[in-house]
Amino acid sequence: MMDDPVRDPWYQGGLQFSCTQCGNCCTGAPGAVWFTEEEGRAMAAQVSLSEQEFLDGHTRLVGSRRSLKEIETSHGFDCAFLDRDSVPGKALCRIYRARPSQCRTWPFWPTNLSSRRAWEQARAATPCPGMGAGALVRVEEIRIMRDQDQLDNGSAPW
Ligand code: SF4
Repeated sequence: MMDDPVRDPWYQGGLQFSCTQCGNCCTGAPGAVWFTEEEGRAMAAQVSLSEQEFLDGHTRLVGSRRSLKEIETSHGFDCAFLDRDSVPGKALCRIYRARPSQCRTWPFWPTNLSSRRAWEQARAATPCPGMGAGALVRVEEIRIMRDQDQLDNGSAPW
């Protein structure tokens, strides 16, 4: 009998993940951090700005969508909300409680979960020391994050 990758994916037994706050997933090559309108409002509120002030000051247009801005540093293109100064050796998110789904669901993105090989490639390429370490994340939780990311990526651009 053939395996059913939807009902019985390769990560059926769960995956280990525990963030070390290294910041590697928030930097690197130029990229985009997408967010929904609702997430934009939440981030604006977190930094005590109006929606328009937030969009003007902290985001940029990439094609027809808005992304959070990046700042070029010695580490790479850091998310503009990455804080490397407050805690020595750690990279923290200044808007952690309001961070968008793209950040909340890392590394359980559909692309990374498409195969064990894709997962290993993402772990090496980021590189993310949290993938494959620490607490076991159950398949039910992985599915929720995977599907949330897919949903938000398909949502209307702002
Ligand atoms: S790369 Fe992995 S361990 Fe480092 S901050 Fe991102 S999720 Fe955490």
